[in-house]
Amino acid sequence: MNYRHAYHAGNFADVFKHAVFARLIDYLKRKDQAFRVIDTHAGTGLYDLSSQEAAKTGEWIDGAGRLVAASLPEPAQALLEPYLSIVRSHFADGALVSYPGSPAIARMLIRRQDRISLCELHPVDHEALAARFAGDFQVRVMHLDGWLVPGAHLPPKEKRGLVLIDPPFEQAGEFERLAEALAKGVKRWPGGMFALWYPIKDEAAVGRFVSGLKESGIGKLLRTELWVRGPGAGAGFRGSGLIIRNPPFTLAGELESILPALVELLAQGEGAGWRAEMLARE
Ligand code: SAM
Repeated sequence: MNYRHAYHAGNFADVFKHAVFARLIDYLKRKDQAFRVIDTHAGTGLYDLSSQEAAKTGEWIDGAGRLVAASLPEPAQALLEPYLSIVRSHFADGALVSYPGSPAIARMLIRRQDRISLCELHPVDHEALAARFAGDFQVRVMHLDGWLVPGAHLPPKEKRGLVLIDPPFEQAGEFERLAEALAKGVKRWPGGMFALWYPIKDEAAVGRFVSGLKESGIGKLLRTELWVRGPGAGAGFRGSGLIIRNPPFTLAGELESILPALVELLAQGEGAGWRAEMLARE
């Protein structure tokens, strides 16, 4: 396990993922009934932006760094406010000092009746995560292979909630594992909301993944992506996407406001853009 999210925390892909993640949690809060957020690949939960790792890549500067300095057009600003206020709470003396990962964002958004389950396999990152939430009765931290969750640990007892599957994509076969995880998860928990993250770097691999999902027979899938430059030679890691199973009925409309504003903010070259479309309805 070589991947460490500390090098990438707060980059353009984190901003896109966490902006959508926060909208999904916000939707779950429309009903009083308790829900659970399950993060299968959780990371450490909070990232020091003055660390050697963050300084080495500086990726956060063109992600969360741009976000805290901006004011977005309405209604994007209002829709993103729950997420923005969490990021802003890490701003001190004119600088962003740390960036919250998905566990910290979820923790700040849930209510007293809601719960969070976190899996992290890297021993050092798991220890940091467990220490962060020690004594917090609403958060359960597990040193567990997150790929085991969809086939064995669903549904949660609350029977409402969201599973974020956000693997590092450091090994071959990650797209296939994502598709298998979704199929297993949906079988065990048809009513659960799932959010699957993927990078836009290998265009052919993304195309195969999306075609496979279309042919899988799994319904109610929304595909959303944000890319900071167009495809082509040397484009590299240029964007990321989320597949959402059981998307809130409000989500597509919200993304039509949020994503153009984020593209304008995060663009790094010609051809930046976004999409939000249903891949499969029923
Ligand atoms: N979800 C986090 C966020 O948005 O802040 C970022 C997660 S990062 C992209 C992926 C994490 O998965 C890394 O911390 C890595 O150590 C961890 N990881 C890798 N393989 C894993 C596995 N099989 N089970 C659980 N965690 C794993």
